[in-house]
Amino acid sequence: MDLSLTEEQRAFQQVARDFLDKEVVPHRTEWDRRESVDTAIIPRMGEIGFFGLTIPEEYGGLGGDHVSYCLGMEELGRADSAVRGIVSVSSGLFGKIVLAHGTEEQKQQWLPGIANGTKLGCFALTEPDNGSDAANLKTRARRGGSSPGADWVIDGAKIFITNGTWADVAVVFARTGSEGPRGVSAFLVPTDTPGLERTEIKGKLGLRGQATASLTFSSMRLPASAIVGEEGQGFRIAMQSLDKGRVSVAAGCTGIVRACLEEVVSYATERTQFGKPIAGFQLVQDMIADISVDADAARLLTWRAADLIDRGEPFGTAASKAKLFASEAAVRAANLAIQVFGGYGYVDEYPVQKLMRDARVMTLYEGTSQIQKLLIGRAETGISAFG
Ligand SMILES: Cc1cc2nc3c(=O)[nH]c(=O)nc-3n(C[C@H](O)[C@H](O)[C@H](O)COP(=O)(O)OP(=O)(O)OC[C@H]3O[C@@H](n4cnc5c(N)ncnc54)[C@H](O)[C@@H]3O)c2cc1C
Repeated sequence: MDLSLTEEQRAFQQVARDFLDKEVVPHRTEWDRRESVDTAIIPRMGEIGFFGLTIPEEYGGLGGDHVSYCLGMEELGRADSAVRGIVSVSSGLFGKIVLAHGTEEQKQQWLPGIANGTKLGCFALTEPDNGSDAANLKTRARRGGSSPGADWVIDGAKIFITNGTWADVAVVFARTGSEGPRGVSAFLVPTDTPGLERTEIKGKLGLRGQATASLTFSSMRLPASAIVGEEGQGFRIAMQSLDKGRVSVAAGCTGIVRACLEEVVSYATERTQFGKPIAGFQLVQDMIADISVDADAARLLTWRAADLIDRGEPFGTAASKAKLFASEAAVRAANLAIQVFGGYGYVDEYPVQKLMRDARVMTLYEGTSQIQKLLIGRAETGISAFG
């Protein structure tokens, strides 16, 4: 077993860290306060390779491996989770669907822009009445005519869509057939399509710098060629994409835990009480040790899942375990970090308050912690709790 990184992986990690320390870290508090990152950062991240890392070279990407992708996501999570989500959703959830299931024309149309960050994608699965129970989604796609090649007409609504108001294109999951998972299909929808409306959701607890939106579709017409993958395969496509997305979330959460560790070590060695640095108190070291162990454990689970993807082996359960552990660890670590900072941890002049708010959503999206446990339980027992 070799857990060491290649020279190439180390080089990418360093470039990513240097870029983010210079271009993101100094601005993140301001972006968080005004509820928007400076979107000029998006194509700049494209130049560094964050978006194109695992997209093949023939579509403008770097053709890299998933362990490298996780290194990038960890650095992004350490710097600013709001920025990490923009990349994860566009190149991960959206880009990987086009790559795995798109026609050659769809790949040529969308992947080069996604890879260099000049185009953004989003992933529209969740609906106001269907979150965890996504197979029950209600957005409806009907044929506009009687022939199989006729246009599609889509009506419905989506909620909590990351990149929603910024994206150039969305993958939208809609019901084309019977109730349940086999009646769902996936469509590629340019966001200037008539009948599509986007409304930004303000007032989020965390990830305030990224755009989260509601989408509504009113008699939105799409050509027959908009479908991605086979008709009726949409739910399977969404779940496969989320399996990989969970590895990316886990890597981002590892970054949050690492940021907490760096912040508490630095603060606790400088802050003095009772005439000595608080790092010298055993009860403070207890908190620091817990964060340190969580950082390592989250990273190891994440790398295992990424390595399985790179080897072409089944990775779904490993991805659920990594996402479950790392997201819960991120919340734990951020909570402890505020404890170490005392009252200073409660104000946004110090970074740990934002880490706490950003970490909180990680146990909710891309499958809640309860859903990850049901997936792991199903893998262990062979019995599905989903009916
Ligand atoms: C900031 C943000 C960004 C997001 N980005 C996207 C995006 O880009 N695209 C997208 O499609 N969605 C996105 N989401 C939606 C997210 O994936 C959902 O919020 C999540 O899947 C949970 O769905 P829900 O909110 O409807 O909660 P519900 O499904 O209503 O769950 C509520 C509670 O019930 C529990 N629960 C539900 N079912 C079960 C069960 N069978 N057993 C045990 N417990 C259960 C859940 O674990 C949870 O604790 C985003 C959400 C947020 C907050």
